[in-house]
Amino acid sequence: MKSILDVRPQLHDAIWDVAEVAGYLWEKGWAERNGGNITVNITEYVDDFMRSMPAICEPRAIGTTLPHLKDTWFYCKGTQKRMRDLANAPMQNGSIIRITDDCAHYEIVADHPVAPTSELPSHLSVHNYLLAKGSPYRASLHTHPIELVAMTHCRKFMEKDVATKLLWSMIPETKAFCPRGLGMVPYLMPSGVELAEATIKAIDDDYDVVMWEKHGVFAVDTDIMSAFDQVDVLNKAALIYIASKNMGFEPEGMSDAQMKELSDTFGLPK
Ligand SMILES: [Zn+2]
Repeated sequence: MKSILDVRPQLHDAIWDVAEVAGYLWEKGWAERNGGNITVNITEYVDDFMRSMPAICEPRAIGTTLPHLKDTWFYCKGTQKRMRDLANAPMQNGSIIRITDDCAHYEIVADHPVAPTSELPSHLSVHNYLLAKGSPYRASLHTHPIELVAMTHCRKFMEKDVATKLLWSMIPETKAFCPRGLGMVPYLMPSGVELAEATIKAIDDDYDVVMWEKHGVFAVDTDIMSAFDQVDVLNKAALIYIASKNMGFEPEGMSDAQMKELSDTFGLPK
């Protein structure tokens, strides 16, 4: 079976990075059933031949008009598809789409007519926002990291930057590798426009990783591996916090002075 990836090593590698991350999500227990979504803006890998390829489905409405997505292409996880399956067969469990000229529809181009995630409108809205801002971020990830989700069941941790400060203080790498911290979005219905808007607002408040109360995270970064790394680093800090609590004490955490020194030394944004 021929694939659009066959003669395009860069595109091939980008899609197989998605597959690698999907495998990690499953192994970590963050992607039960068809849980989680990934979309990656792959426009930089698109060549003239790809532009000439016919669509393999009729144009489908996004449900909104996203003007900054003109001439953009995405890889999207398929609706009802499982991360554990995507890990082994990314082009059977996801598809490559292009946005039509009216910026209100998309069409599937390759390899199979796998319908994209039902979360496509919200993911594309985030990509539209990122492009409008001139951001270099091209990947978005939604997943259900157990310990981070557990923390959102506590009112105190939903307050602005309370969880961020706690997680940063568990191990220096957290602040170094997730330097914008963890934005918090109060509970909203999954898949809704309101959740998408609240997520964009949190990203606009200068967070790369946004917690959805009692649900999961939404992370953006330059590529899918980097988006995963940020979530992984934050969840590791949550595990250290929980390990301390399980040993019967409240962890001391790094001091404000120690965290400031880290920011100054590495030129961190916050
Ligand atoms: Zn979810």
